[in-house]
Amino acid sequence: MTRLPSLAERKPVRTDTVTFSDGSTSDYTPPVNTLDPRYTACADHRVGCDCREADLREDIADLRIEVESLRAENRRLRALMVSVADGLNQEARR
Ligand SMILES: [Zn+2]
Repeated sequence: MTRLPSLAERKPVRTDTVTFSDGSTSDYTPPVNTLDPRYTACADHRVGCDCREADLREDIADLRIEVESLRAENRRLRALMVSVADGLNQEARR
């Protein structure tokens, strides 16, 4: 059974450089999940605001975990199928 990658093994969090109208820039790292304090602090809900980014990224992380879990189950069932087929073949040879 495979394990999920640890936090250190995962891809680094995306960091965007935001450019303001006056030309100044700022590095912005979106919140990864709803535990980020920016999630509850978000007041001006707009497209791409902190709470929506946190919700979206959390949903994506949950779906990735679900996909990996289904892949692991698929591998387990395939291995079971092969062992059952081997057992049937051995019984047929007797
Ligand atoms: Zn918001």
